[in-house]
Amino acid sequence: MCCTSGWPIPVERARVAAIDDRIAANVIPLQVEPWLTTGANLPEDVEGTLALGDNGHCVFFEAGRPGCAIHDAKPASCAHFPFVCLIDQRGIHVTLSHFCPTSTSLLFEHTGPIEVVEGPSPLPDLEMLEGLDARDALPPVMPGAGERLMSFDELDAWQHDRIAHASIGELQADDIAAFNRARAAVPSPLSWPAAPDQLESIWFAQVAPAWRDFEEVLTRYAAAKAFASWSLYLGGGIDAAERTARIAHAVVRVECARQCRAAGRPLDRELLMNAIEQSDLLLVHYADPEALATSPSTDRRRD
Ligand code: SF4
Repeated sequence: MCCTSGWPIPVERARVAAIDDRIAANVIPLQVEPWLTTGANLPEDVEGTLALGDNGHCVFFEAGRPGCAIHDAKPASCAHFPFVCLIDQRGIHVTLSHFCPTSTSLLFEHTGPIEVVEGPSPLPDLEMLEGLDARDALPPVMPGAGERLMSFDELDAWQHDRIAHASIGELQADDIAAFNRARAAVPSPLSWPAAPDQLESIWFAQVAPAWRDFEEVLTRYAAAKAFASWSLYLGGGIDAAERTARIAHAVVRVECARQCRAAGRPLDRELLMNAIEQSDLLLVHYADPEALATSPSTDRRRD
């Protein structure tokens, strides 16, 4: 998905020579040349972005059918997809972008309890994963305790509690407002389409009848959104993380309705997979994480 999305994928200066070597050694049949697009205002360590074909596919995806023609030299952004990492004083926390179809299918196929598991780095070749680096940040303020900061043990306990009680309920009165918070966090010139007209009638006719059939899948998605939330640090703590999770619940409900309306049929596995992929395309890849984390509340109820 990331190879065909038309995204401007940054290439670190340190990787350019290795990629050039792969092209020379393997005689990679490039359909677009040069393979690197340079431009102004790039970060210091970035040489440019991967060239794209007319169809928006990465030049190395087209050349490497099937797959990536420079797999062992690909840029860091490619290697990290679909990992979403939060790095703080407790360690590195990894959740996934469900814009990746494999990540989404895991929501459907997992058996057993939902739990935080410790494991090796998903990218063992890298010294340090990329993500939100909050190692210098203080822990969030303890909710309801004035100015006292949480201990990291308390933060862990809160996170485990949120995962244990994760769920995504039915349509809420303020879902469109919450959905619009996510849209408002998308920086120009990008944009995201408005919620479908007559959301409520689509919901009750085509989504609600099947919603409970997918309760386990939705609970796993809610748990994934509750874990490693960047909003803990970008938005000022627990309230921000809960507000962002609340927005995510609204987004997946709205995207389910959009899928059902477009397909003209009730919610099924395929439509829910599409809706979850689109939800994380908006929440993880289009929306500015800080704008999302600091967006105002719509309603303090939890669902
Ligand atoms: S470099 Fe490889 S992994 Fe990265 S977008 Fe291109 S084809 Fe995909």
